[in-house]
Amino acid sequence: MRVCRMKMIFAEKLSLVFGCNQHVITQAVIFFSTAGGHRSRKCRSKRDSACKKWEEKFSIFACKNMLSDQLLPLYDAFPVKQLHKEYIRAGADVVQAFTFYSTDDKLNLPGHEAGGTITCKELNRQACTIAEKVVGESDVLICGALSPTPSYTEGKGKEAVQREFSKQVEVFVEHDVDFLLAEFIGCIEEAEWAIELLKSTGKPVACTLRTGPVGDNSGVPAGECAVRMAKAGADVIGVNCKFDPTTCLKTVRMMREALDREGLSPFLMVQPVGFHCPEVEMQHEGYGMLPENPFALEPRQLTRFDVHKFARAAYELGVRYIGGCCGFEPHHIRAIAEELSAERGGRLGEGSKKHVPWGGALTSSVLGTNRAKASREHWEGMQPASGRPGHPNLQPKLMD
Ligand SMILES: [Zn+2]
Repeated sequence: MRVCRMKMIFAEKLSLVFGCNQHVITQAVIFFSTAGGHRSRKCRSKRDSACKKWEEKFSIFACKNMLSDQLLPLYDAFPVKQLHKEYIRAGADVVQAFTFYSTDDKLNLPGHEAGGTITCKELNRQACTIAEKVVGESDVLICGALSPTPSYTEGKGKEAVQREFSKQVEVFVEHDVDFLLAEFIGCIEEAEWAIELLKSTGKPVACTLRTGPVGDNSGVPAGECAVRMAKAGADVIGVNCKFDPTTCLKTVRMMREALDREGLSPFLMVQPVGFHCPEVEMQHEGYGMLPENPFALEPRQLTRFDVHKFARAAYELGVRYIGGCCGFEPHHIRAIAEELSAERGGRLGEGSKKHVPWGGALTSSVLGTNRAKASREHWEGMQPASGRPGHPNLQPKLMD
């Protein structure tokens, strides 16, 4: 039977020491990836054509809300399993079952109608089963996650919202996931309702808002949101999605300062998007405001070296659950693992066995132009160009 390592982590929280053993190391840094919720992917299984048909059928979800991540595993689990495996090999300690936005009220929104053929419970069961198969007997943690509900947006009230959450949580408890996460929540009130329900399971609870320095969608400042999440009982709090690493860390700093003033010390968590988007810092919708979103974001993607800087900055800020959201690829997670390897007693993912950080492998390149770049100095100081003549650095309309 799998050991619930997350419970140990919290039990030992007050004796936090870095680099002594596996458990303490995990306290120090938990890497996580949502494993590409928005990440485009190709079907690579033998049943490619059938798989494509399935994706086409639900293509509306692929661009609207990531539901393809949940629907795909029902039909063909191979691509999803492989995605989990890639992140684990990169160094992720957590596999998050693909349950994003899987609520019955979401599945039945006008224009979606997937709810006619599938329920959130069925989706979540499939997602948990796939995560279990990938994780096996290893010590990788499985996270069951909730997302915001349309019922909240429609003003249906606490009871209706928690009813939607309950249906998902029931499956997570059945599958005995290691911990629960309410993520991408827009308003602190809905976060509090989610935390209350998740705490009733007795499992460790994390909660992240999709908020930036401007505060949540109802105008509550980020610091106050953090205090309210902690007081609601969340063990881990922070932000995910919508904003880039710089902005997310700015928000987490505001949260930490408010928590410090209140004498509260939950674990901190940060999972930014993998794209530079400083001009949307003060927009509630974050990178969703960019004209490039969602299909032309590539020029904004973080380099692995950007992620090294992010991981170090997050660590120095006191964040101990460090990961990525939309746009984070496995090599980004590997960069986090490599940047903070020393803090974990030298621990690295399997994917680092054939990877020399900071371009070190270029020393054996047959090309002199590459050998000249085989140094940390080169990659740390390098300024990536977009390669597009006349390309704007930022979207000026969003800077007002
Ligand atoms: Zn995201």
